[in-house]
Amino acid sequence: MTERAETGIIERLQSGTVLGAEGYVFELERRGYIKAGPYVPEAVLDFPDAVRELHREFLRAGSEVMVALTYYAHREKLRTVGREGDLEAMNRHAVRIAREVAQEGDALVAGNVCNTWVYDPDDPSTRDVVRATYTEQLGWAVDEGIDFVISETNDYLGEALIALEVIGGLGLPAMVTLATTQPERTRDGYEYAEACRILAAEGAAVVGLNCDRGPQTMLPLLAQIRDTVDGPVAAQPVPYRTIPDAPTMESLRSEGVERVFPLALEPFGCTRMEMALFARAARDLGVEYIGVCCGGGPHHVRAMAEALGRTVPASKYSPSMELHPMFRADVSARDAAFLETWNAAYPG
Ligand SMILES: [Zn+2]
Repeated sequence: MTERAETGIIERLQSGTVLGAEGYVFELERRGYIKAGPYVPEAVLDFPDAVRELHREFLRAGSEVMVALTYYAHREKLRTVGREGDLEAMNRHAVRIAREVAQEGDALVAGNVCNTWVYDPDDPSTRDVVRATYTEQLGWAVDEGIDFVISETNDYLGEALIALEVIGGLGLPAMVTLATTQPERTRDGYEYAEACRILAAEGAAVVGLNCDRGPQTMLPLLAQIRDTVDGPVAAQPVPYRTIPDAPTMESLRSEGVERVFPLALEPFGCTRMEMALFARAARDLGVEYIGVCCGGGPHHVRAMAEALGRTVPASKYSPSMELHPMFRADVSARDAAFLETWNAAYPG
């Protein structure tokens, strides 16, 4: 096993907020390296430079965790795209790439597992399939060298507990986060805060929520979780303007568009300033691990890092609008005329 980082996730959470970043699959899909629909991270093998670059962009933006791109890199999913034979290589390479970039900074490497779409609480045999899936993926990840594991987008507490058991068996800290596509409860009927409490009681080092909800509709649930859980809490929302009537990105609707999720979400995108406000709000609530999920880009992460008072490598190129010809203090008469046009309302 490769040497682990000197300061692990638990120590870092004890000494302050940890900033993470995810959304690799969405971002690489937008860039043309992953197919929407199956969302299998084939780019790990087919375009490793694209994966490496995105890790690097998140690292420079202030992410302290490089999450190996093994989301959906499990047997069931690879079968749907006819790449079951690439299972081991995809998992190993994903960790190698994450590790390589993590070492360019002071980032941790997280192994990653997610919901399998196989688990069925009414069919006990699916527990074994899920356990085998996680054991297989994380065995390779440990071999390649990870510092902890993120088990994410869990729809069922039952499936999350299997992940936790496998991670615990490997002797690694686990961060376990739930998907929140239902109003109040996991698909197996536990209130989200209660599910988090159980996960923490069963040994998860960090518990919380990721994906599905944007800042506005995730924060109220986070407050409940914070009130219920003693240990570290994680929050990685999607940067979309979800609202009480459409609390998840899947439930957003737009006139004339049959389905907004996942290909027509752009009009709902949060600005970097909105994500910066979320980072502060989550920190003030007492959330210790703050990040983004699907839809997040490096510009969001940098703004969040800076909102938390940090200067990160990409801060070198943070906005200096006072240097913009139109917005600087000593705007020339000619530019002032330009600005007048920019500010004018167009008559309808
Ligand atoms: Zn997501």
